[in-house]
This record gives sequence, C-alpha cells and structure tokens, in this order.
Amino acid sequence: MARLDGKVALITGAASGMGKVAAELFAREGARVLLADVTDEAGRAAADEISSAGGHAAFVHTDVSKPEELQAAVRSTVARFGALNVLYNNAGIFPADDGSVTETSERTWDRVMDINLKGVFLGCKYAIPAMIESGGGSIINVASFVALVGAATAQIAYTASKGGVLSMTREIAVEFARKGIRANALCPGPIETPLLAELLADPVRRERRLVHIPVGRFGQAEEIARAALFLASDESSFVTGATFVVDGGITAAYVTPE
Ligand code: NAD
Repeated sequence: MARLDGKVALITGAASGMGKVAAELFAREGARVLLADVTDEAGRAAADEISSAGGHAAFVHTDVSKPEELQAAVRSTVARFGALNVLYNNAGIFPADDGSVTETSERTWDRVMDINLKGVFLGCKYAIPAMIESGGGSIINVASFVALVGAATAQIAYTASKGGVLSMTREIAVEFARKGIRANALCPGPIETPLLAELLADPVRRERRLVHIPVGRFGQAEEIARAALFLASDESSFVTGATFVVDGGITAAYVTPE
C-alpha cells in the first residue's frame, strides 16, 4: 500500500523546487494532488507530467497572497478530488533586495510578508474548514532554519516571515488538535533549488554558507519532500506542533568538522 493512498493534497508553490518534487512524490505515493502556483506554464507542465506518469494531479493558478485565489484553490481541490486531507503551504520568495534591517525597504518587507507569512495564514484559514469536513488532516507549513538561528548575511524580512510561520503553526496545532488536524513547521536548511540558484552560483557566498553545514553539502529537494511525505502521511499521527528541522545539522552545530 502506498503511503498516501486515498489522500488529497493541496501544495502551494508546486511549479518549482521542493513543491514540485513533493507533488511528484505525493502522487507516486497515491495522493491526488492539486498544484497551486503563480507560474502557470511550469505549474501546468508539472501537473501534466504527474498525470502522464499515471498519477492524479491538476494545476490551479494561485497567488497565495490573494485571499480569493487561495479560497478558489481550496474549493477547486474539493470539487475535483472530493476532499482535502493535506495542506502543504510551501510557496515562498527570497528576494535579492531583502537584506539588512537598516537597508531593506518597506516595500520589500511587505511583499515578503504577504507571500511567505500571510500566504500561510490564508492557506490555513481556507483549508482548515475543508479539512475538518474531510475528517481531519495534516498541515505542513514551510518555515526555515533561519527561523531558529541568526545570520550575519541578513535577509531580515525573509527571516521574520519564517519566524512568524513557526509560531503560527504551533498555535494552529494546539487549537485544532482535537478536531483531527495536525500542523507542523518544516524547517529546511539550504537546499539546491531555483530559489537559491543565484546565491549558490557565487563561489564566495556558497562557501560562506557551506562551512556551517556539518554534513558538508547543501540539501536536495527530494530530501525535504521525503520529510514532508512523513508529515503528510499517517505515519506521523502523533506529531503535531513540531519544529521539524531538516538542515544537515546546521542548527545543532557550534563548530563544524574541518
Ligand atoms: P522555488 O523558488 O524553487 O519555488 C517556490 C515556488 O513558489 C515557485 O514555483 C514560485 O512560483 C512559487 N511562488 C512564489 N510566489 C508565489 C505566490 N505569491 N503564490 C503562489 N506561488 C508562489 O523555491 P524552493 O527553494 O523550492 O522553496 C520552497 C519553500 O521552501 C519556500 O517557502 C522557501 O522559503 C522555503 N525554503 C527554501 C530553502 C532553500 O534553501 N531553497 C530553505 C528553507 C526554506
């Protein structure tokens, strides 16, 4: 039996990176998957690939910062697949003009908060009633290791948004625990996806980060998708309100190996 047999999942930011890999993995594990993203062409292609491989998937254009679009994505998931059991709030941005607190513009701050933090709030707001009606489910909110430790290479709005995701997730977990909803915050370390492509292409910036990762390498999207799969499935039935860190040991380290 596949690990997500009979489950319906809504994944935001599923056109690229970790969301896309998770959509493929969830579908291979038996879930019917609604891919939601602002990037239509790549999102449709990702859903088509899953369908061609024999899975069940559909794409819906969704800007997670727009309430009506997230509400429509939830409705569309239930209309197409008959339920909503897994919400994977994965969409996020990491803009280059987000830096030190003294230099970052309010415009950038607001844009990051709208997508990374309000987007998660809206996802939960509209999906939870549908999940309760479906008999319960699992919410995976993507935070980051930067919600747990500070960096001198600041990205102030991004970091603050992920801290918000982390604390919001705990509260949701506690409030809805007896309604059969689990909510966990997934905190990836640096993962080689398009989000970090520009940063990791610069050898100096790459090395500056690599030195802090005990395992000595960046993570791969598949390694985060596998953690999300565990949180989505009933294998994690007693896991809720957790800060689920998948970071190659960064947040455990003081001095890393030579
Ligand atoms: P990615 O850039 O490859 O994918 C992000 C996806 O989100 C893209 O498809 C993009 O179109 C979509 N998106 C952006 N704005 C959106 C919006 N308003 N509405 C809907 N979709 C939107 O990035 P990734 O590395 O796979 O990141 C996925 C999540 O993981 C993000 O929340 C990110 O902050 C988080 N994260 C990434 C890393 C990393 O090192 N890559 C580390 C920790 C956390």
